[in-house]
Amino acid sequence: MKTILVTGGTGYIGSHTVVSLIENNYEVIIVDNLSNSKLEVLNRIEKITGKKPVFYQISVQNKDEMRQIFEKYHIDAIIHFAGLKSVKESVEKPDLYFSNNVGSSKVLLELMDEYNVKNLVFSSSATVYGVPKRVPLYEDDPIGGCTNPYGQTKVDIEILLNEYYKTHKDSNIAILRYFNPIGAHSSGLIGEDPQGVPNNLMPYITQVAVGRLPYLNINGNDYKTVDGTGVRDYIHVVDLASGHLSALKKLEEKPGLVIYNLGTGKGTSVLELVHAFEKANKIKIPYVIAPRRPGDVDENYANCDKAWKEMGWKAKLDIVDACRDSWRWQSKNPNGYDK
Ligand code: NAD
Ligand code: UDP
Repeated sequence: MKTILVTGGTGYIGSHTVVSLIENNYEVIIVDNLSNSKLEVLNRIEKITGKKPVFYQISVQNKDEMRQIFEKYHIDAIIHFAGLKSVKESVEKPDLYFSNNVGSSKVLLELMDEYNVKNLVFSSSATVYGVPKRVPLYEDDPIGGCTNPYGQTKVDIEILLNEYYKTHKDSNIAILRYFNPIGAHSSGLIGEDPQGVPNNLMPYITQVAVGRLPYLNINGNDYKTVDGTGVRDYIHVVDLASGHLSALKKLEEKPGLVIYNLGTGKGTSVLELVHAFEKANKIKIPYVIAPRRPGDVDENYANCDKAWKEMGWKAKLDIVDACRDSWRWQSKNPNGYDK
């Protein structure tokens, strides 16, 4: 496969994946409406790879505008990152989340059908498992029962992809369920740049470290876990990016519809991550114990054997690497991509 259309390619995971794609000699076309990312990302990608990818500032929901890309290029595969991802915002604006996330996916499938594009990699999430009945989570564990509209959009899109596959048996679709991406490219040139106060743990920690926030709120210390704080499976974003290249290779084998967890297989508590960050970077992170966040589960981590057995992919970096790289990014870019 040569030419890859990357939706959401200027976002956090998309930008790291685009770097890996370019480094592996793929032609990349990015589509992003910049609703949650900055144009500056393209300059940074060029600094790292020496190549500026083709870029269209378009909403994937806009079929007519998207059509010009399908008319102009022969697309071998699509990696579909584009979507809104804030759990909190999705509760406030469920209609926006369903129309943007599910709507964009429908448009892409219609264009794939119309232009005979056979290969798709989709960004799903561990959130599709809802409240886990057991950990680690396996790909054939039941999905659904999500406590927020964001998670439900991912379930709905997975259902949509299964329906599409039933009537397009010659297509190849990889659904990748990400666990908790953290870290940044080792150059410190690209990384996670949330708008406003971060909802996720690692950007919150790095913003405390850089002095943008006074202290971390640890949401709950009475969970049934090793130290009472929530346990998650933190995967380095560069490993996650390489998972997409493995998925593209897998699609060349024409596997039909396949689903893989992308995580490390290892759970880490909030306190463990805070201490790892402090140790890796020699910075103290002040924190207070705050109430639980509604809807949070005790533990959530992946079994990733399937991705290893079927794609030869596994995570190589650990949370120490991720803590170091997240801090390199944040300390070099205290205000993210805004100078
Ligand atoms: P991100 O917000 O950094 O990137 C998503 C990109 O999509 C943004 O650049 C945004 O501008 C763009 N976008 C949104 N709607 C669009 C539309 N209609 N048309 C064109 N572009 C649009 O998020 P991310 O962390 O890089 O996540 C990428 C994907 O992975 C998302 O689908 C997200 O739901 C999924 N995911 C993320 C996580 C996580 O913790 N970061 C976990 C599991 C799954
Ligand atoms: N968390 C926290 N303080 C924060 C943000 C998150 O204690 O400011 C905790 C949260 O309760 C969870 C873990 O950190 O146990 C990971 O949260 P995040 O939002 O990053 O990921 P998710 O809950 O979506 O897996």
